[in-house]
Amino acid sequence: MDAGGSIFNAMLQEFDGAARLLGLDPGIWKILTSPKRQITVSCPIQMDNGEIEVFTGYRVQYNITLGPAKGGIRYHPDVSLDEVTALAAWMTWKCAVAHVPFGGGKGGIICDPTRMSRRELEALTRRYVAEIIDSIGPEKDVPAPDVNTNDQIMAWVMDTYSMHVGHTSTAVVTGKPVEMGGSLGRREATGRGVMIVTREAAKHLGFDIKGATVAVQGFGNVGSVSADLLAGLGAKIVAVTDWKGGVYNGDGLDIAKMLDFARQHKTIDGFPGGEPIENEALFKLEVDVLVPAALENQITMENAPSIRARVVTEGANGPTTPEAHRHLHERGVFVIPDILANAGGVTTSYFEWVQDRHGYFWTEAEVNHRLEAMMFEAFQAVLQTSLKYKTDMRTAAYIVAINRVATVTKMRGMYA
Ligand code: NAD
Repeated sequence: MDAGGSIFNAMLQEFDGAARLLGLDPGIWKILTSPKRQITVSCPIQMDNGEIEVFTGYRVQYNITLGPAKGGIRYHPDVSLDEVTALAAWMTWKCAVAHVPFGGGKGGIICDPTRMSRRELEALTRRYVAEIIDSIGPEKDVPAPDVNTNDQIMAWVMDTYSMHVGHTSTAVVTGKPVEMGGSLGRREATGRGVMIVTREAAKHLGFDIKGATVAVQGFGNVGSVSADLLAGLGAKIVAVTDWKGGVYNGDGLDIAKMLDFARQHKTIDGFPGGEPIENEALFKLEVDVLVPAALENQITMENAPSIRARVVTEGANGPTTPEAHRHLHERGVFVIPDILANAGGVTTSYFEWVQDRHGYFWTEAEVNHRLEAMMFEAFQAVLQTSLKYKTDMRTAAYIVAINRVATVTKMRGMYA
């Protein structure tokens, strides 16, 4: 993703390619490439040793034309305004592709949560929320978990906001525990979306997902649920890797047993149902589907030439560099881009927000049914666009997204 060191510039490269094909109006182009709001805050915290530390936090509302900003909060030492802005822009396009009425936002705090106590993390979260409180809310900006943040942190976000406004406001944040307004099906939603778009890609390309071979990088939330649900369709999951190691079995791995093993050992390394395999070999496997579901920048020009999968479903955000993507597309590999493939998560976050605002909660079957319909529609919209513009699925996803935001921007007109 590196483009002159700026992640935001990498996002712009993808945007520009699609905007050119779409023939985007130059004025709208300027609006859609400018972040609407970038907030920087200082969060002083008294640490457990009595000393005061000051942490820098950001919240970026990239574009709110379609609705409240939506996007996670990341806790990491490498957080920067450039990164948060790029991630907020990608959320704008992801929400638009998924056809959910949200804009794009993202937040982050420069910190190392692995070296902080629970009390310090709670204090930091509450101070950060207090600092950005005027800019968030169910109608304004709805945060969610991201790297190193979880449902407990979302519970603190919700509580801090509620204390300030004087009433309980569940819809200010998504990814909450189910007991306090979270949605059933949210945990599995991203993997479920990966399964749906992969199944549709197989239909489009004319191969049967039943019996198709699949390799998955990453066995966390996205990778494990994707593997489990694809196995449920009859696909053969032949290889899985995680941060520590991996397992290969040409006859198909027993994913239910692997889930149990991962729960016990916090890794799949050493799982007895196959032989060891590493990422490098996993990417070279002759499989029907490859699902990168771990980290960004995993498919590069180093390994793309040896990828032999027919379909790459990007469960992770940004797993493929732009050069590697061009190379795969030229070789006829069907890449389902992240802003479409992993949009099941934000779609179900939207369902969570809807349920919170109604104060009426759906069954898991209802959540899954609605997710199926929206992911199917999103896949079809992107596929038809890629056929119409004779372009790859990533550029097509951007065209769909940019077109939706641009249309509403024009309809709303210019307030000045
Ligand atoms: P997670 O932390 O639950 O899982 C990450 C997995 O990747 C773990 O199994 C870890 O062992 C593995 N991993 C780490 N380093 C690896 C390496 N070098 N090689 C192989 N595996 C490695 O995270 P997650 O929620 O599953 O997210 C994975 C990706 O999907 C991220 O890019 C995230 O931004 C993206 N994503 C997640 C969601 C969601 O709802 N969770 C939604 C959209 C996108």
